[in-house]
Amino acid sequence: MLHIFICPKCFNFRIVSRKPDAICFHCGARLYKSDIDYIEYIDMSEQERDKYKESFINRMKLYQDKTDSVLKEQNIKK
Ligand SMILES: [Zn+2]
Repeated sequence: MLHIFICPKCFNFRIVSRKPDAICFHCGARLYKSDIDYIEYIDMSEQERDKYKESFINRMKLYQDKTDSVLKEQNIKK
């Protein structure tokens, strides 16, 4: 079974088989499993992949903003 992973740092896609954890070839970051399946990925055009990449980047930013504000709140409480 092949899975599509994406790097949270440099946003490169990587196709991974079997391994539960995957590391980015480019920057060594731990990859995130995307919700695209292999067949879908193969059918995607470059533009569609870029689009997905963009929405992934936005989601990562939202997530980081959330964690940042949680961390800030914790600091205020201390
Ligand atoms: Zn990377």
